[in-house]
Amino acid sequence: MAEVKLINVWKKFGEVTAVQDMSLHVKDGEFMILLGPSGCGKTTTLRMIAGLEEPTKGQIYVGDKLVADPEKGVFVPPKDRDIAMVFQSYALYPHMTVYDNIAFPLKLRKVPKQEIDRRVREVAEMLGLTELLKRKPRELSGGQRQRVALGRAIVRQPQVFLMDEPLSNLDAKLRVRMRAELKKLQKQLGVTTIYVTHDQVEAMTMGDRIAVINAGILQQVGTPDEVYNKPANVFVGGFIGSPAMNFLDASVVEDERGVWVDFGEFKLKLLEDQAEVLRELGYIGKEVIFGIRPEDLYDAMFAQVKIPGENMIRAMVDIVENLGSERIVHLRVGNLTFVGAFHAESMVKEGQEIDVVFDMKKVHIFDKKTEKAIF
Ligand code: ATP
Repeated sequence: MAEVKLINVWKKFGEVTAVQDMSLHVKDGEFMILLGPSGCGKTTTLRMIAGLEEPTKGQIYVGDKLVADPEKGVFVPPKDRDIAMVFQSYALYPHMTVYDNIAFPLKLRKVPKQEIDRRVREVAEMLGLTELLKRKPRELSGGQRQRVALGRAIVRQPQVFLMDEPLSNLDAKLRVRMRAELKKLQKQLGVTTIYVTHDQVEAMTMGDRIAVINAGILQQVGTPDEVYNKPANVFVGGFIGSPAMNFLDASVVEDERGVWVDFGEFKLKLLEDQAEVLRELGYIGKEVIFGIRPEDLYDAMFAQVKIPGENMIRAMVDIVENLGSERIVHLRVGNLTFVGAFHAESMVKEGQEIDVVFDMKKVHIFDKKTEKAIF
């Protein structure tokens, strides 16, 4: 087992900066997710750890070993990094049986035949492939093929697994199952794993921690709870969670009753500890970005604390989407629009004017210029 460390790593492709000054410390045995939109640099980061790309600048460690540092002229090739990779397009050898596909990396390393047989059977058992060892890849389902690809990675007992969207070719149902299986397997093996995805549900359900990346820049590293509940900036707040966090421009104002976020069309009263933070940091009278998740807005019928003019406002219902488990309600006040995820039993109708309650404990405030979270 091993930790993986990136220290001030850069990767440029000509004019394009794919990865910018990335520092990331993946702990021994940890399941780390690299999450971000298409083109943000996730795959490039993974490929640099694998040794398929050389960083332009910075250092990469796998375990105690420095595997890349262009300034020192260090570059350890992939085969000497003791890592195994699983990709989205898990190219199995079509003419080989499942057994031979899994055995292949061991044969390459000239492992004795008996030892190969023991390890292949052990891995097959672990992945539920024992019955399929004699089949060829074309005689397998997508999920089975993916498990063979995993088997081929596991069998080598590497220090680190690198996975690039390994579940994205599977249908939705299988993906959910494989997600749980993969997570279980990783815990069982205890191998440090770095897993690339753009799917936030995958990230939230599988990761011990998530590294959120945008435009080549690491935005935040934290547990699923941390990135969800304490997003470091507007990007992370907006990227994680579905439907997405509502953002509204506001100014912070203070009167004899307290500190408010003022949206022009209406205002909301902040809690005393929030007010204190904004006062202390000099935000009174300043513009900020206000954020609240749809599930933290309530149909007043289902809200516990409702104080008209403080946390409760009148809003027009534009659209109601019934998801069965909840209702996604598009709301409007003047020209401001936002979305609430209401209780399934909420009876609000399109075209109706209703009372909406904001759970002020769940409010996020971001600096207007830097877009960094104040709280
Ligand atoms: P996706 O989820 O779409 O795979 P990603 O987050 O993995 O995206 P990367 O593949 O790492 O993103 O790409 C990051 C940026 O670097 C992109 O702008 C991409 O176009 C660019 N890039 C990647 N590889 C190369 C290359 N070999 N030559 C030039 N530009 C590249």
